[in-house]
Amino acid sequence: MRTERVARSNQGGWGWVGGAGLDGGYRMTSRPVALLALLAACAHNPVSPVPAPVADAPALPSRTELRGQPRVEDWQGLGAEAAALLSQYIRINTTNPPGNELQAARWLAAVLRRDGLESQIFEPVPGKANLYARLKGDGSARPLILLNHMDVVLASPEFWRVDPFAGAIREGYVWGRGALDMKGEGIVELLSMVALKRAGVPLRRDIIFLATADEEIGAGVGAGWMVEQHPELLRDAEFLLNEGGTIRADEAGHVEYVGVGTTEKSPFWLELTTHGTAGHGSRPTPDNPVHRLVRTLARIAAFQTPLVVTPTVERYFHDLAEIEVDSGRRAALANVRVAIQDSVAARRLTSDLTFNALLRNTISITGLKASDKTNVIPPVASAVLDVRLLPGQAPEAFLALGIVSYGVSPFPLNDAEGRGVHGNDERVSLANLTFGVHFFYDIVARVAAR
Ligand SMILES: [Zn+2]
Repeated sequence: MRTERVARSNQGGWGWVGGAGLDGGYRMTSRPVALLALLAACAHNPVSPVPAPVADAPALPSRTELRGQPRVEDWQGLGAEAAALLSQYIRINTTNPPGNELQAARWLAAVLRRDGLESQIFEPVPGKANLYARLKGDGSARPLILLNHMDVVLASPEFWRVDPFAGAIREGYVWGRGALDMKGEGIVELLSMVALKRAGVPLRRDIIFLATADEEIGAGVGAGWMVEQHPELLRDAEFLLNEGGTIRADEAGHVEYVGVGTTEKSPFWLELTTHGTAGHGSRPTPDNPVHRLVRTLARIAAFQTPLVVTPTVERYFHDLAEIEVDSGRRAALANVRVAIQDSVAARRLTSDLTFNALLRNTISITGLKASDKTNVIPPVASAVLDVRLLPGQAPEAFLALGIVSYGVSPFPLNDAEGRGVHGNDERVSLANLTFGVHFFYDIVARVAAR
């Protein structure tokens, strides 16, 4: 669950609402920082930067040459280049587990090498890898990190219209697992950096491209491993951009708003176990652990956590009010602290599942385990709970890195497109790839260019 700030679109382009630019406003711990710290786990293997081989690099699509700042036709070219690269990237199956990110890292290194950028590849455990590349600025400002993960979640091909790992380009889309989450964004990040180099834009900050393993299943050898094992490569950075945030589009593709992730709730997963006397199902025991568990879970399911308005959510709702057409909703959003005191307004607000999760700690009971035989009373029963805490409510919040981090999506998505993330028929339109490269280029240029 991400907390976002809103920027309003203007005539199909985009623009930030009042001071919501990258260096205005919030300086809060965000998900990337949280991830970096949370996932920092023990490394068992020594760090070994390995050179990326040239030999097995696939034939890469042609580069879009730039002479100075990109023009309209250049953005088209960069969009097409993004599509061709993404199609290849999707074909490298990085379903995690196991991930096999090393192959993807080698491919990314070859892509970067076309533009004279050398990468370092780290292989914490065999087959799993992180890639690090740095485009130099003049050093007068601290670096910007473009963070992305190379692994993807499982795809069940029987539910897809296309092979999820064929990288098909058809009907105006690049199809495949990772098109949105987050190989598509990774390619956009890469091309925005590379395009700045091609255009010869002088930079005041270094731009760091960091592609990691293990985001989808945290085995601890991705971003966290890099922070723990190679703090010297990252710690001087001032800003970090990662996935998160939303660009909402209507069915016609018009941008409704740009949301930027500035902070994120913390998962606090719990397992609940009850014990009792085992026996045969035909002779009920008074302390059947399954009954005990069900009674407890019934109370948890009925429990309503209190509503809390964090400053980030207050700002987000306030910005959302500007584009809300319904007058009742607009009033509630504009002054959410007052709205939650009113039971009718509070009920209306929290009937939106997203708003509800932004306004409280949440508890979802997601798993149950007891006997696998109908006629056996087990000695133990257990349940797992997905609890999510609002920012600032987790005492173990970490600020050790101190990198100001934002979740930014490069693609305006309508509802149908958004459902592809971790779902079926994940795809990104060619128009969105062009938009995304342009959008990220503008952000990175604004932050990093002299
Ligand atoms: Zn992701």
